[in-house]
Amino acid sequence: MNHPTPDWHAAARAVKIDGRAVIGGQRVAAANGAAFVKTSPIDGRVLGEIARGGAADIDAAVAASRAAFADGRWAGKAPAARKKTLQRFAEKILSAKDELAVLETLDMGKPVQYSLAVDVAAAARTIAWYAEAVDKVYDEIAPTPASALALITREPMGVIGAVVPWNYPMIMAAWKLGPALAAGNSVVLKPSEKSPLTALRLAELALEAGLPAGVFNVVPGYGHEAGEALALHMDVDAIGFTGSTRVGRKMLEYAGRSNLKRVYNELGGKSAFVVFDDFADIERAAKTVAGSMFFNQGESCNAPSRVLVHARVAERFLEIVAAEAPKYAPGDPLSGHAEMGALVDEGQLRTVLGYIEAGRSEGAAVVAGGAAARTETGGYYVEPTVFAGVRNDMKIAREEIFGPVMSVIRFDSEAEAVHLANDSSYGLQASVWSDNINRAHRVARQLRAGTVHVNQYDEDDITVPFGGYKQSGNGRDKSLHAFDKYTELKTTWIRIDAARGA
Ligand code: NAD
Repeated sequence: MNHPTPDWHAAARAVKIDGRAVIGGQRVAAANGAAFVKTSPIDGRVLGEIARGGAADIDAAVAASRAAFADGRWAGKAPAARKKTLQRFAEKILSAKDELAVLETLDMGKPVQYSLAVDVAAAARTIAWYAEAVDKVYDEIAPTPASALALITREPMGVIGAVVPWNYPMIMAAWKLGPALAAGNSVVLKPSEKSPLTALRLAELALEAGLPAGVFNVVPGYGHEAGEALALHMDVDAIGFTGSTRVGRKMLEYAGRSNLKRVYNELGGKSAFVVFDDFADIERAAKTVAGSMFFNQGESCNAPSRVLVHARVAERFLEIVAAEAPKYAPGDPLSGHAEMGALVDEGQLRTVLGYIEAGRSEGAAVVAGGAAARTETGGYYVEPTVFAGVRNDMKIAREEIFGPVMSVIRFDSEAEAVHLANDSSYGLQASVWSDNINRAHRVARQLRAGTVHVNQYDEDDITVPFGGYKQSGNGRDKSLHAFDKYTELKTTWIRIDAARGA
């Protein structure tokens, strides 16, 4: 039987917001009583007050995490026991799916059916996948001489600080929480001040699932207050950060200024989507780039925002993309059928409109969109926008816009395409479209990006690593490789005496 479509507007009116932090298993206000008002980007409605965490709250959360780690209430459990608790956590997420979807949409503006089908589903799947993995990964014995035994074991690090952005709040949190908790660590999560609601609810659900108090703490607040305090803390062993390259630099500085904690940065992108003239199904390539670029309002780190097209097929490609773009026009995010929702806040709307202006003034041509939309709602919407005639040295081709703005750049040869694709400070993802198997492999090898797609852009799975080359970051989220970030590698040498006598 099909699940009836909820009345999302009614669900949004009914939702209860508790903006207090979760520290040591308790809901608590900020130590100094500070709070900020959270409004929704979909129509400006006030959602509630959120604790404005500061250094004192981070101290309390780190102390709770350290105490939980030190007494072994979680790290000391058998992997199979941690698995069961985390599986229950994933089930709790799924049983609260409608509520979490509404919270995510109200908080950061994405269409609610995608919050449900993509964000809630992926968050639950991530937690469940690491739960399943944890009692199936083995440690190593080194091939040493017979006089000794060398064990190479992975141990949890201790206290992990997770600092995440607002574009996929639940998924980004789950990508840190899954491997960090499964490995036995304690976590202090600092969600974005623009999207704290689902993180707080996740912490409650984890407690309901039986995760011991203190193992997973959430301190909402601003980046320069709670975020900085967490990254500077002397008792935090590692920071799992996802966000902008600007703040990623600061994370490395904070580590240098404090305890040299490990810093794993998942940062911005300006991903190239390279279409050769030997790719027959131009329509599929054009429709794919529109879908991937405008998904999540263009607020995706891996959005294919630099589209490189061979001059021979560029006109046809542009025609299709320009016709596709209006299909993603923003609508009411709570309707259940809008393709695009609201940008996260007024500042982001201004930033995106500023880039559109910069593109025009540098001489690129708008072939679709180019303006704000739904201004009567009190929310922050922008039309899906396509620029033609872009050069790779223009501001719109160099900087991450983080909005629904696509730049189309022409090229004439394979060498030029590879050069342009790699001529970026970022290296998160790339895509090559060609029916020539030699060219597809040759170009894929040359592209300097953490993920390269061939003749598609949509495949994604928790089993594969996600992260970037160059200034898109270091370390990888997802897959078994993510355990490397939250575990220490220990070598234990054991002497084996030769047999005495016969
Ligand atoms: P941001 O860097 O502004 O903020 C990210 C987080 O860092 C937030 O929680 C914020 O409060 C905190 N923060 C801000 N200033 C801080 C400071 N001085 N000290 C400590 N913490 C601080 O990024 P954003 O605008 O929230 O997110 C968008 C960015 O995230 C884009 O660049 C996007 O590409 C990137 N992103 C990357 C990935 C990836 O996996 N590579 C995934 C999603 C988003």
